[in-house]
Amino acid sequence: MAHLLSIVVPCYNEEKTVETFYSEVMKVKKQLDLVEFEFIFINDGSTDNTLKKLKALELKDPKQVKFLSFSRNFGKEAALYAGLNYAKGDYITVMDADLQDPPSLLPEMFSLIQEGTYDCIGTRRISREGEPKIRSFFAKKFYKIINKISDVNIVDGARDFRLMTRQMVDAILELKEYNRFSKGLFSWVGFETYYLEYENIERKSGQSSWSFWQLFVYSLDGIIAFSEFPLVISAFIGIISFVVSIIALLFFFVRAAIFGDPTTGWPSLVCIILALGGLQLFCLGIVGQYLGKTFLETKRRPIYILKDKSDSFNQE
Ligand code: UDP
Ligand code: MG
Repeated sequence: MAHLLSIVVPCYNEEKTVETFYSEVMKVKKQLDLVEFEFIFINDGSTDNTLKKLKALELKDPKQVKFLSFSRNFGKEAALYAGLNYAKGDYITVMDADLQDPPSLLPEMFSLIQEGTYDCIGTRRISREGEPKIRSFFAKKFYKIINKISDVNIVDGARDFRLMTRQMVDAILELKEYNRFSKGLFSWVGFETYYLEYENIERKSGQSSWSFWQLFVYSLDGIIAFSEFPLVISAFIGIISFVVSIIALLFFFVRAAIFGDPTTGWPSLVCIILALGGLQLFCLGIVGQYLGKTFLETKRRPIYILKDKSDSFNQE
């Protein structure tokens, strides 16, 4: 019996890459016997001609190509969720449109997953060639920190490029949270994952849509979504400064009782007030982050809004 493989591809301003992506993946198809393809491209509110290109691609190959189009840019995480939602395959893979996820790995991934031991075949870059040094440095630190302080295990260099069974995808779709941090979600649902390793490949064309600052905020979101540790830190800072203040109080009380009380020391007082005020604001900020996320979640807004989709979705 033939298997259906869904290929979920989020696209944000990828007019230059979608066609090459499609043809590169189709080249690999010959190596996969008895596998039918279903491409699901998600146009994530692109401002260029991505949607036009996707529609043209669908006209060319209506049997295999489908698209979803958002009403605005909702982000890659939302695009992934939409794609997984519409995917019908027994096996589902998510890939970037820029060919940084080599389609040539697909046959190996497919044969691994069919053995049945693993529910997910992930991919992992073992080099970060062609990436700014400082970016790699912070990325490494981020993986260290999040693995320490959260209950999910995120492999360093793991990409979103992965092949999953229907069962695992259904589990991921159960997680309907608004703040989606896929790397964490993939790990949180459990199941057995095997990581294939490969060398980093630079983007074919266009440029990464992530600035350093965006990545930084994204990593903080990841930590907040999967760990309560920052809250523990803020409580800890509070306790420590309270204990220190009690000790200092005793010290000054005794000193005043023995040596009298010369009224000096207002500069140190100012420093203490500033330091404590700063710590309080810092901790309030941490609490605020969680509260803000909770606020967004409680609104229960949809993760994405569709403006357009392939007609073939309606026929089913
Ligand atoms: N992407 C998206 N929405 C966004 C940003 C990116 O759908 O808001 C898609 C993008 O088209 C690409 C994938 O997510 O297919 C990865 O993006 P990119 O290559 O910019 O990220 P990087 O490879 O640098 O992590
Ligand atoms: Mg990329």
